[in-house]
Parts: sequence; structure tokens; C-alpha cells
Amino acid sequence: METQARLIVDVARLDEDGERYQGELSLALLDLGASEVFAPKGALAYDLFAQALGTELLVRGTLSLPLNCICVRCGGEFQKVVQDRDFVTSIEISEATDFLDLTDEVREAIILDLPSYPVCSDTCKGLCMTCGKNLNKEICACQKAGSDRRWATLEGL
Ligand SMILES: [Zn+2]
Ligand SMILES: [Zn+2]
Repeated sequence: METQARLIVDVARLDEDGERYQGELSLALLDLGASEVFAPKGALAYDLFAQALGTELLVRGTLSLPLNCICVRCGGEFQKVVQDRDFVTSIEISEATDFLDLTDEVREAIILDLPSYPVCSDTCKGLCMTCGKNLNKEICACQKAGSDRRWATLEGL
């Protein structure tokens, strides 16, 4: 069976100056689910720095997760990496704290970054409302007709 490593900070042995934690959390472990417009494609990567400051453990860094998405405008499939460069959390610790499991914190943070309305590109033109053709690939007859009508109106002035 594949071992599913969680993100665990060894607080009791943590270097005074802090320590870097890098690794991956498997999708099976995170159970992020999927929606109609995206599906996680690979493990969530983390690159974090953990430091104990008094009675607090401060952890900050970057999370990233590759996704397969479906554009809500044109229906095209595309890939995207969701990145959270400002992940930060602080957890109260005491003399008695030895290990802290941050897997759930990371999971919740990345869920907030998942797209509800992914778009393949800011300039995606979407589909024609009339005939359904992908306007990124071609200009359909309806679009041409529409512009012809506009010209006709201008000429009529
Ligand atoms: Zn699109
Ligand atoms: Zn059309």
C-alpha cells in the first residue's frame, strides 16, 4: 500500500531559527473532490517555513496544485496550476507540543483557491449565443451577419 505522508511539523525538535518543509500531499489523502469545471490533476506541493515564536508556531509559504479545467465561456479543456503564495497559519503551542499535523490547514487553504468559474484565457471569446460555434477558432455566419447589420444602420444615417 502506498504510504500517504501527511504534513507534520516536529515542533519539539524544530530548529530555533525555523525550518523549511517541502513536499507533496497526495490527492487521495486530501480528498478535494471535483466539480463540473475542474478536477485536481496531481499532488499538492508545499514549500513552507515553520518557526516557533514563543507560544506560537508560525508557518508560511507557498502551496500549488495542478488542475484540469473546463472553460466556462468556451467549454475548452485547459490546465492550470492554482498557487497560494501567501499561505500563513499560526498555531498555539506549549512545552508539551511535540508534533503538529498541518495537513487539514493546507487542505482548507487550497480549497479556498479552487476556481468556481475557470476561464481558459482573459481574452476567451466564448461560444456564439446563436449557433454555438467556438469564437476563438472561427467567426461564424451570425457574427458576420451581425456586423453587416451594423454597417447597414450606419449607411442609413
Ligand atoms: Zn475559453
Ligand atoms: Zn454563430
